[in-house]
Amino acid sequence: MTKKLILVSNDDGIHSSGLKCLAEKARELGRVFVVAPDRERSAASHSLTLHRPLRVTKTGTDEYAVDGTPTDCVTLAVNSILPRTPDIVLSGVNMGTNLGEDVLYSGTVSAAMEGTMLGIPSAAFSLGSPYEAGLEYAGVFAKKVAARMLAEGLPSDTLLNVNIPGLKSIKGYWITRLGKRFYNDVVIEKIDPRGKKYFWIGGEIDRWEGGRDSDFHAFKGGYVTITPLHFDMTNHDSILKLKGWDFE
Ligand code: MN
Repeated sequence: MTKKLILVSNDDGIHSSGLKCLAEKARELGRVFVVAPDRERSAASHSLTLHRPLRVTKTGTDEYAVDGTPTDCVTLAVNSILPRTPDIVLSGVNMGTNLGEDVLYSGTVSAAMEGTMLGIPSAAFSLGSPYEAGLEYAGVFAKKVAARMLAEGLPSDTLLNVNIPGLKSIKGYWITRLGKRFYNDVVIEKIDPRGKKYFWIGGEIDRWEGGRDSDFHAFKGGYVTITPLHFDMTNHDSILKLKGWDFE
């Protein structure tokens, strides 16, 4: 049997300890190629670099840094860098959760989504703080998920969004759906040393909703959350209503 080929990427960049941990655990399952951004690209979402060339730097054995986004990394890896199409794509371990609508901004999730769009079973892994307490566990859990993906694949057009609490004792895991969160003070407005106004997007989570089967609820309860995602964003329930509208 040929050795399994695994692509590992992230959005925290090539120097991230979460990336190193994920790659190390994945190496127990097959040959691992790491192709990751050369710097932190968190919240890069699914952006693709089209208006300038991309440079790839070999940083180790089967390890490459790209001066682009997570999506660029997966695209280049699959189409140019790897010897063949990988059996699975793993993204992370991200330092910070990707729960609810975070998946729309997350470069971590987007790297896995790009893998899925290329027809490769893919998963994203994110860790809640305190990171030191949970990284080893996150790596071990990611390896279990990856092993299952290698054995069984995933439903088509579906990726797994996995969030691991940064806790020493984890209660278990839940298969969840995305919840909804609300931030406060999202945009901070201040004056710079030269008297000009600047804005900084930030803010704390104020509250979340989603019920007992949501990722937030399970995560807050100390469980690993596994949410299957797909990218058909069509609101199917609205089609009938919109068909009743008259634009003539
Ligand atoms: Mn990140």
